[in-house]
Amino acid sequence: MSHPQILFPQTTFTGPSLLQARRETIQQVTVKAQLKKLKETGQYDCFNLKWQPIYDDKSRWPSPPPVYWDSDVVKWIEAACYMLTEHYDAEIDAAVRELVQMIRDAQQEDGYIDVYFTVIEPGKRWSNLRDQHELYNAGHLTEAALAHSNYYKNDLLIEVVHKYVKLIRSVFGPGEDQRHGYPGHPEIELALIRFYSTTGNQDAYDLAQYFIEERGNPTGQDGMMYYDWEREKRGDSPWKRPDSFPMHPAHWYSQAHQPILQQNSIEGHAVRALYLLTGVANLLSLDELGIKPFAGKEQYLKTLRTLWNNMVDKKMYLTGGIGSMMQWEGFGIDYFLPQGSGEGGCYNETCASIGVIMLAERLLHLELDSKYADVMELCLYNAVMTAMSLGVSTIGRGARTRAGSSVLTSEKDKNIRAAWFDTSCCPPNVSRLYGSIGGYLWDYGGQGQDLFVNVHLYTTAEVSFQVDEHAVIFRQKSNWPWEGNVTFELEAPPTANTTVRLRIPGWAKKRFMLTPTVKSATLENGYLVLPSSYTSDNKVFSIEIQGFEPRYISPHPYTNQRTLTLARGPLIYCVEDVDNPWEQDHFRNVGITIGTEVSEEEHVIDKMGERYVGLRTVGWVRKMDQWLQREVGLEPGLSVQGQVPEAKELLFIPYYLRANRGGRGFPPAYLHYAIEPAPREDAVDTVRSLGIESGQIGVAWTDAMYLRPE
Ligand SMILES: [Zn+2]
Repeated sequence: MSHPQILFPQTTFTGPSLLQARRETIQQVTVKAQLKKLKETGQYDCFNLKWQPIYDDKSRWPSPPPVYWDSDVVKWIEAACYMLTEHYDAEIDAAVRELVQMIRDAQQEDGYIDVYFTVIEPGKRWSNLRDQHELYNAGHLTEAALAHSNYYKNDLLIEVVHKYVKLIRSVFGPGEDQRHGYPGHPEIELALIRFYSTTGNQDAYDLAQYFIEERGNPTGQDGMMYYDWEREKRGDSPWKRPDSFPMHPAHWYSQAHQPILQQNSIEGHAVRALYLLTGVANLLSLDELGIKPFAGKEQYLKTLRTLWNNMVDKKMYLTGGIGSMMQWEGFGIDYFLPQGSGEGGCYNETCASIGVIMLAERLLHLELDSKYADVMELCLYNAVMTAMSLGVSTIGRGARTRAGSSVLTSEKDKNIRAAWFDTSCCPPNVSRLYGSIGGYLWDYGGQGQDLFVNVHLYTTAEVSFQVDEHAVIFRQKSNWPWEGNVTFELEAPPTANTTVRLRIPGWAKKRFMLTPTVKSATLENGYLVLPSSYTSDNKVFSIEIQGFEPRYISPHPYTNQRTLTLARGPLIYCVEDVDNPWEQDHFRNVGITIGTEVSEEEHVIDKMGERYVGLRTVGWVRKMDQWLQREVGLEPGLSVQGQVPEAKELLFIPYYLRANRGGRGFPPAYLHYAIEPAPREDAVDTVRSLGIESGQIGVAWTDAMYLRPE
């Protein structure tokens, strides 16, 4: 079955592009820098099962950092194997080989493999699925094994997983003497389906299906919900709960408050939720492809649609970031999308948006609809790409970044990157995503003579694939995401009938020009369908997708975020004080107004050679004099009539470029705007007439500017 992590070697990036620039950085710098970090922290050596001083620190309950170490290491192996496919490096190769040997040696007689419960707390295996990460680690080990065998063409890690899956299958399942549990941190579900797809391991399939169907059963184990049952078995008080649970019980934290089919809003820890739903989508796509029938397919697909819509419409930032609640690194109530930690939220973990990309890719297999690919692209170029720093001199690449937006974060949380973390899930996750990103660009295949290529993402690349005796090469060339012109070239035997579908992004508003044009092309679910009659007559064709003019976007009114953001094509823009040196207060007093003219400028970041399109416009700055001069402790508000804001030039940069050139930190993607009551028409005209000149706006604005006094 076609998973991007398996298929990506069929795609080659054939020219410079923004995606390729990031991939090169990861190939040449990041993977090695992360290896260095693994060695410095002791993680590299954890599979030798020797005691390390950090193991004595049990202060972090219930999950001290070594609980996740296995996953950090094996995710790095996965990323390294993807990168080695294109860019051989002797040091990386040697490290992978050594780690794989250590992992093989660390596997216990019965197949068990998890450092924490082998070295630090032996005897407590499977005692706390809710909080611990054995099954999560096993999932990542499974994904690493698939990547490893794909590159090294041997089964050294695959064997380890076969043995481990057999053990896990014996412990968990519907049998009377089995445990009716499921992972607190989903991941293994999506990995097991991938493992089944590649190896045919039936236990892997059965386990994944069991974990998905049993999840949230209120009476699954001895009449109790499994996590309650295991807590009683441990002898823990029902009131003892991790810091991430605001109440007890909080089974919604791990999407186990109800069976999945009963859930109608996306809840809890965002990474867990997205990994779980990707696992479900993996299961369904096996049925879709006729590989393995699954009776619950339609019901689960309906649930996936419901949860996707709830997430995108009500719980996602304009950047594609998800997980507004910092305490549980996850979803809040509908429309609760605060702009930064200073407003009580905006966690937006990088792994969570990577999860959205993975889920979207799977959903595109189940039902081709450009809305999934639009969100996939949004997350890729904004929420995820911003996690990486630029350049070659810094080590920090990939970060858990609270990066959804942030007009107001705090001095403690400046929204900057780190090289590594105690729980360092995001950095290797970014590496493995970019390592396999070629597999996300398009979907292709067919049967007999009827072939298809569905293009989801535009860049400069080519894919080679074979269906029966038909060998196909399909190329695309573009300057995406800066321009909308994409040229295609198809090489296929004359006997093949190839249908090509091209995504027309939602922001293009159906504006595009196909050359040569054709009447028989139709737009279906956001994809322009070019029939085989067209592709056989036109081996070279191009499309000009429009919608690259700057546009204003704002979040749903019910978020109560009276804010405005600039976007261009798939990119979300932000402002930094390094470009706007007059700004001293993190743009807290700065706004923009709908309709103000925006001009484009080509820029290049010196030394790094990073080119981008900047956007220049005029904003307004509210004055703080009255607030600064007021008598302290007297009253919480002030009369603000007659305040005159000052107009200022603003230069916007793509959000992914933020925090690379110094500055005071936490650059906002969102700025305030005046919405109600609307500013007087002559005020808008005055702003418009200012062009890009600084100066006074000669009209007093209404109270709208003061909707959120600090
Ligand atoms: Zn993470």
